[in-house]
Amino acid sequence: VFLALIYFVGLSVAQPQRLERDIPPVHHAPNREFHMIDVNLHLKFDLNKKEVYGSAVETIVPLRVDYDSVRLDAVDMRIEKVAMGDKILGFRYDGKNLVIGLDRKYEPDDTLTYTVVYSTVPKKGIFFVLPDTAYPGRVPQIWSQSEMEDARNWFPCHDYPDDFVKSSITARVPDDWVVVSNGILKRVEDHPADRTKTFQWIEDKPHVIYLISIVAGKYSIVRDKWDDIPIYYYVPFEDRAYAKQNFSHTSDILKFYSSVTGYKYPWQKLSLSTVSDFTYGGMENVSAITLTDATIHSVDAEPQISSTGLIAHEIAHQWFGDLLTCRTWSNAWLNEGFATYFEALYGKHAFGDDHFAFEMYNNQKQVLEADKLERRPTVYNRYYDAVDLFGPYIYARGADILNMLRGVIGDRLFYKAIKYYVNKFQHQNVDTHDFENAVREATGYNLYWFFEEWAYKAGHPVFDVSHRYDSTAQKVLLKVQQTQTVDSLTPVYRMPVDVYIVTPSEKILEKVWVDSTVNSYAFNVPEKPLMVNFDEDNYLLKEVTFKKSTDELGYQLTHDPNAAGRIWAASQLSNRKGDDAVKFLSNAALNDKFWGVRVECLNSLEHISDLSSDKVFKDALHDKDQRVQVAAINALAKRRASSSEKLLEDLFEKSSNYYVKAAAVRALAEVEGRTAMPFIEKALNLNSHQEVIRSSALKALEEIDSSKAYEFAARFAQYGMPPSLRLQAIAALSRLEPGSEKTLSLLKKYTTDPYIWARLVAITSLGRIGNPGIIPLLQRKEKEEVDGRLKEAARRAIWMIETREKSSGNEG
Ligand SMILES: [Zn+2]
Repeated sequence: VFLALIYFVGLSVAQPQRLERDIPPVHHAPNREFHMIDVNLHLKFDLNKKEVYGSAVETIVPLRVDYDSVRLDAVDMRIEKVAMGDKILGFRYDGKNLVIGLDRKYEPDDTLTYTVVYSTVPKKGIFFVLPDTAYPGRVPQIWSQSEMEDARNWFPCHDYPDDFVKSSITARVPDDWVVVSNGILKRVEDHPADRTKTFQWIEDKPHVIYLISIVAGKYSIVRDKWDDIPIYYYVPFEDRAYAKQNFSHTSDILKFYSSVTGYKYPWQKLSLSTVSDFTYGGMENVSAITLTDATIHSVDAEPQISSTGLIAHEIAHQWFGDLLTCRTWSNAWLNEGFATYFEALYGKHAFGDDHFAFEMYNNQKQVLEADKLERRPTVYNRYYDAVDLFGPYIYARGADILNMLRGVIGDRLFYKAIKYYVNKFQHQNVDTHDFENAVREATGYNLYWFFEEWAYKAGHPVFDVSHRYDSTAQKVLLKVQQTQTVDSLTPVYRMPVDVYIVTPSEKILEKVWVDSTVNSYAFNVPEKPLMVNFDEDNYLLKEVTFKKSTDELGYQLTHDPNAAGRIWAASQLSNRKGDDAVKFLSNAALNDKFWGVRVECLNSLEHISDLSSDKVFKDALHDKDQRVQVAAINALAKRRASSSEKLLEDLFEKSSNYYVKAAAVRALAEVEGRTAMPFIEKALNLNSHQEVIRSSALKALEEIDSSKAYEFAARFAQYGMPPSLRLQAIAALSRLEPGSEKTLSLLKKYTTDPYIWARLVAITSLGRIGNPGIIPLLQRKEKEEVDGRLKEAARRAIWMIETREKSSGNEG
């Protein structure tokens, strides 16, 4: 899955460290008593009651002797009937477990088929999007989301990812709807009498249960193709033109992954369907990917918004996740880390090395941030709900592990190992040891130490690096210390590292090994070097302090072939005073070939706070990349550079880019104060992708008229307003008037909102307000919410309040 990040721009709040006493429980995979060969679902829906009527025909082979009852996961169902052919079978049902009494004892070689007829009004697993009085224009849809363990909410099954089944879905819907599911569309049948249609889809290649999906609604179909694989985009009619543009990389992505995995796209077709109110960004249902409709955007949202990363992630899962599936959730990095990394590799292929370096740099940054709150291994089996594992430790850190592996064994052996792994484990479960062994079988390397350090342990090395040139001996002396706290979770790291030395006449690349708390190296270098880099390609997940002179940093900023190295140099220069630092940063801010470096330079320049830099910021307003323009706008805003008023006004009026407009209106509030009001009022009336402009105008309003801002926030927080704006508005309430009764009562109300993310923001905001009286409500939310992410948000809100209470108690 792809976590829904789009909605949460600007909504992140400081999280407390996990409390010692709050270590989640250990989970092991459940026992499995049968292998399911095939599941055939027949579904009908009552839209008014949001009810599912199902019949599941399932064929299994027992794994046990004297097998006389089948236990299935099935939540909140009304079981109408269980039968085997014409024979009615008895059953017991407790609301969670369905136990079917078989007609006789079966043995491990037997095959048996039973049918369960049931109905349910599911709380999750399958979702109904329907118009209501607040949103009368909403287009009806039904869609499923079964990962991690929610298939049991819409059909009875062994709901764990440790068995590979074939599946089919036959669904009857209104005759102006279409049904999208896994595999091939076998038939469509009209029923004119009641104006319905039946669609039958069959996926006859084995896959795990949570990848079975259905999307139904009024859709337009856009056709595409790669090789002999048909590709379909299912989008609402008004999004047809956007779909072609937003998903234009799809066929190239299929081609790229087919090549680097040595395994042609495994399924018979690929569909991408967008749905409303999706609970994730995207989901890799086998051959039938589901995406949030928030990814659909016009060119005015680019380059800040792109669908390419999202679809590259979900398509990577068609191999890593779908063709090979993690055996337990504790090994979910084999799905998510691989999808994150192969998305980055596709980015390298399509957009170049700088793009890749920047993406990996940001992955590392995410993990370093997460490690500050909690060090957690990537392979980890402690959680309340499996979704708790789905965060930076498996996505970003998983990708970092693969990148480091590529660094250790080299590009060619890395891809050799990947091809071997994919082919060996196709249509099978995998755990980390399987991957480790595949790498060993393909390359001969026994990398137990690597997986021990990075997959099974937690944290990262903290390096203190220094260098000196001994001109008499003509040597560069490099000293590397590891200063991280070493304990049972975090070791002294053993890793190969590339050291890159550049002199006026030569470039030297040498691999050294770090393996103890202090390592010293000497390199023969005939001239004083211009640049000495530690970990040249930035493979290592690490923190590093490397003292360099301003000239050395300037040289690196200008000459390092790796964008992450240039960004690092720019960030180090932000702590230097003097004209030289400003000169290096100004030059790179306007001339570096990569936008990410230009942005970092602007940020560093803003930090140095030299007035002469204002010209650079103004020049950068004309950068060809709008992300750089936004950084320049933000820098001018922070400096309250009044000479930039006219430029900012012009950008706000003339730029068509949503993010430039959004940044400009906030900057105008900073620079002009109340004089900016006409611009803010104008911005409050502008539509944009995901409401970025109105959200920004709300923040601008907070700067200059907080009571007006509160009024606006209270109005736009209401159910019925645009969903993404609501989230910003709800968050604003607790920022603007954290202590007010009205805020408290509104937030309490929104903890029961129909929209899941509104509840999440309300719960998080209540944690931020920190009123201990709200703890009982949060405890109730933790218990009653069905999505693990909301339970976790409630738990975290409670810690926030308790932590704050404790610290204020100490002070008192
Ligand atoms: Zn994913």
